[in-house]
Amino acid sequence: MTDGATAPGAAFLVGLIGEGIAASLTPPMHEAEARELGLEYEYRILDLIELGRPAAEVGGILAEARSAGFSALNITHPCKQLVLDVVDDLHTDAAHLRAVNLVVFEGERMVGYNTDWMGFRDGLIAGLPEASFRRVVQIGCGGAGAATAYALLTHGTEQLELSDSDETRAADLAARMRSLFPSRRIHILEQTDLAGAISLANGVVHATPMGMLNHPGVAFDPALLAEDAWVSDVVYRPLETELLRRAAALGHPALDGGRMAVGQACASLRIITGISPDGERMQRHFRALIAAEERAEAEGASRERSHDRGA
Ligand code: NAD
Repeated sequence: MTDGATAPGAAFLVGLIGEGIAASLTPPMHEAEARELGLEYEYRILDLIELGRPAAEVGGILAEARSAGFSALNITHPCKQLVLDVVDDLHTDAAHLRAVNLVVFEGERMVGYNTDWMGFRDGLIAGLPEASFRRVVQIGCGGAGAATAYALLTHGTEQLELSDSDETRAADLAARMRSLFPSRRIHILEQTDLAGAISLANGVVHATPMGMLNHPGVAFDPALLAEDAWVSDVVYRPLETELLRRAAALGHPALDGGRMAVGQACASLRIITGISPDGERMQRHFRALIAAEERAEAEGASRERSHDRGA
């Protein structure tokens, strides 16, 4: 099904497997763009908590989905690594990243892909067209951080300096990336060296949960950035994190986490259908969905305040 022509009238049944995913914006993103492309396309949420099934059963769930006529499934936390042992074939990038976020049923075979890193790479290209990626500091070396590091190195970053409050995570990611990109300089940063490294970098990627509503604050002070340095955040709820707001106020090019989120959906849709979606149209739709979410949250908070005042 990949990179091939989609038969006229082809219908797609696609899903997302993960935990606590009821509020995912992936279904409306896929369905709206597929509609624009004239495809018959349905996207369902398969939330393990609602299904009452443990993550370890993901292999069985995939087999059932195939029998039920699904074309493909996106995979998210906590199944991205579990699926590695379930698929028949692994696309090279998924094998390198040891993480799968898309399984496509290609004939008799289940094929695992990783489109998270593609989403980040495509966001860099579209969102920071003038930027240099030669020397980059990355803070956060978990799941999202593995995808961003791989994307940076694939995109030509020569010196990548990794920082994480959990030093074993930084060391593990550095070791994996060094084995994949032996000619690049990939260092682990001690906390004491972080500020100096940021001041010398062409840009900083932030890949920790800081800046989300339940993790307020910034992982570093944007005043440390070199004059023309850029900053990229993976957090997308909210889209404008405190880090990006402060960096933009200082005049730095800033890339929000929406680019990566939409980019991975766009790449998934392309692999599933063989048709190239309109990435900018998907961006606009995603931003409208997030804005509606943020408005509803603000209205809810305002109602709560009125209620507390007895209004
Ligand atoms: P994770 O738990 O796998 O990794 C987070 C890492 O950040 C951990 O290694 C942790 O030790 C480190 N960390 C936490 N606070 C830190 C701090 N103050 N300084 C340094 N390191 C710190 O989580 P994840 O799946 O990588 O997700 C991280 C964020 O990325 C979340 O906000 C998530 O919503 C977002 N995300 C965005 C996209 C996207 O498409 N834009 C995709 C995946 C995840």
